[in-house]
Amino acid sequence: MGRKEDNIAKAATLVNKAESIRNIDIAAHIDHGKTTLSDNLIAGAGMMSEDLAGKQLMLDYDEQEQARGITINAANASMVHQVDGKDYLINLIDTPGHVDFGGDVTRAMRAVDGCIIVVDSVEGVMPQTETVIRQALREYVKPTMFINKVDRLINELKLNSEEMQKKFIKIINDVNKLIAKYAPDKFKKEWELSVQNGKVSFGSAYNNWAISVPAMKVFNVNFNDIVSMVREGKQKELAKKAPLHKIILNMVVHHLPDPKQASEYRIPNVWHGDLESQVGKSMMVCDTKGPLAMMITKIIVDPHAGEIAVGRVFSGSLTKGQELYISSASGKFKIQTIAMMVGPDRIQVDSIPAGNIAAVIGLKSAIAGSTVSAVADMEPFEPMTHYTDPVVTLAI
Ligand code: GDP
Repeated sequence: MGRKEDNIAKAATLVNKAESIRNIDIAAHIDHGKTTLSDNLIAGAGMMSEDLAGKQLMLDYDEQEQARGITINAANASMVHQVDGKDYLINLIDTPGHVDFGGDVTRAMRAVDGCIIVVDSVEGVMPQTETVIRQALREYVKPTMFINKVDRLINELKLNSEEMQKKFIKIINDVNKLIAKYAPDKFKKEWELSVQNGKVSFGSAYNNWAISVPAMKVFNVNFNDIVSMVREGKQKELAKKAPLHKIILNMVVHHLPDPKQASEYRIPNVWHGDLESQVGKSMMVCDTKGPLAMMITKIIVDPHAGEIAVGRVFSGSLTKGQELYISSASGKFKIQTIAMMVGPDRIQVDSIPAGNIAAVIGLKSAIAGSTVSAVADMEPFEPMTHYTDPVVTLAI
């Protein structure tokens, strides 16, 4: 079995272990490196050839996207990553990076519990950085950060290790100001980013290396080593010593919540029905045996399969042949096909339990934002608020 097939087989088992799942997205100002990072994470996790990463924009599979060079299709790519001998399933939702597609960003945020905010180290925090942070925090999505394009600080701006660290601190402070401003009160302190707590990584998505303070010991690399290796043109060597996907996915596993942990505080924020009802109780604990409740975050039109609804299962298990209600549509709809999405591949499965992202054929009247449920009169999920970029941003 190839690595990709092996990972797909593992993923099919991991969908049943909530504590081993992380639903995340990558959020960034345009051109800060979200696509490059997504590609290289997927390649690093063995889901596509490493040679193709960065060249074949795996998540950008619409021709329109290719032509515009902008990621507009919020697709999903599942990856398997091992930390301390344990396998994890990372469901990475691709979110658009462009302001025009803000509605899609917001919807994708509903499906995830954590995010990686990417900030270009040369440009720092930009207006769309603020917008995506605000959207994430509004949805109670916990942040981590990747400071990208560090190679440019070294090769183009000629910064030394100390100057580079000053730049990082400025970016972290700016992002923390936004977290202090937009995070739910109870998480303002807990979700603060710092170099020491390991919720921030630095590196070059393009050149495939990264580092975080906790990873420095484990991978035996410090800031001075990075500066000298980049200056000496040894970024390939650095990518072997401190591989981007390992550092970033370790950060994700260690610092972002699993769907069960997240449901407890996210459900009351995104669903205003009766938390004491059967479906309410089930969603709060991500019960795979409860009544089915799912929110559709994206409709993909496939030339062969037709309309595919993609969304997050919050309660119960989505099963082939199940008949479900869709908010604002009358009657029941039969689930024909269920799949996990691995980049452009759809891997068909018989069932997907709560805590996961699923692609479904059969929900004909569903639109992005629809609530799908086994309960006839289920209170729909809250509509998602979309923010446009701020007129006044931080003084940076
Ligand atoms: P997105 O708009 O956020 O998806 O950004 P992209 O991933 O498309 O990257 C924007 C540009 O920055 C592309 O030309 C990338 O090749 C480049 N880029 C991304 N990461 C790095 C990096 O680590 N170093 C350098 N020098 N360029 C990068």
